[in-house]
Amino acid sequence: MRDGPSDKSRTAVITGSTSGIGLGVAEALAGIGCNIALNSFTDNAEDRALAERIAEEHGVAAIYISADMSDPSACRNLVEQAASHFDGIDILVNNAGIQHVAPVEDFPVEKWNAILAINLSSSFHTIAAAIPHMKRAEGGRIVNIASAHGLRASPFKSAYVAAKHGVVGLTKTVALELAETGITCNAICPGYVLTPLIEAQIPDQMKVHDMDRDTVVREVMLAKQPTREFVTIEELGGLVVFLCSDHAAQVTGTALPMDGGWTAQ
Ligand code: NAD
Repeated sequence: MRDGPSDKSRTAVITGSTSGIGLGVAEALAGIGCNIALNSFTDNAEDRALAERIAEEHGVAAIYISADMSDPSACRNLVEQAASHFDGIDILVNNAGIQHVAPVEDFPVEKWNAILAINLSSSFHTIAAAIPHMKRAEGGRIVNIASAHGLRASPFKSAYVAAKHGVVGLTKTVALELAETGITCNAICPGYVLTPLIEAQIPDQMKVHDMDRDTVVREVMLAKQPTREFVTIEELGGLVVFLCSDHAAQVTGTALPMDGGWTAQ
């Protein structure tokens, strides 16, 4: 495998990487010399400028590929486009995700379908497309950004919890299928990270719990996180870099919490 933090030639595809955790992971992987394929469902000058900035700041090659992760063929095309542009793929980070909060009996069907498609099925499609390229390179790294909600449930998040538990199951299965190929597959299960996704949940949570912003953050969102601190994007980037290193060659099929002690309870 083309591996190791000092190898400049590895290529990483990160889904949903124009903001939040995905962008942070892209920056972290660019920081160790990986070429980067950024992705989101939009297609504008800002997206391409982001790729240019990463390329310039880190001295790597970076491109932006527009692909909607709710569309199976777009997921597979994303991988194929990146592989043909960079002549292979070494690292796949499945990060794209959305959220909707509602009691299960009122949960809109279209939101259920979108969350399952983007948060779970997209990973199946990108992984299936990436494996032949990684096998050709005789190794690779697949990292799925699941959630503490891949290991624990919370009320009002039926689709998200179901999808993230599914990601953990998919991760284990893929790891076993690829165990003798030099390709590892792991899930990271973050607790609360302050990103646009979480910002967007705060008004809903304020409504559901009838609380002001500070109280909902402290008493509801971080109530389960014993450190009472958000996980940072940089900390998550560091864990992805580790999983993509030679030192993590025997780490496969795991669901690694980074959650301030949430799932220790
Ligand atoms: P975010 O909203 O900041 O970023 C999500 C990214 O996904 C964006 O770049 C967005 O453009 C992209 N995206 C959304 N729909 C897409 C689609 N259909 N096709 C392609 N791209 C799409 O969110 P975030 O908080 O950075 O979350 C990233 C991942 O981390 C998600 O899978 C989320 O479930 C997971 N996660 C987040 C937290 C947290 O506290 N923020 C905790 C645990 C897990």
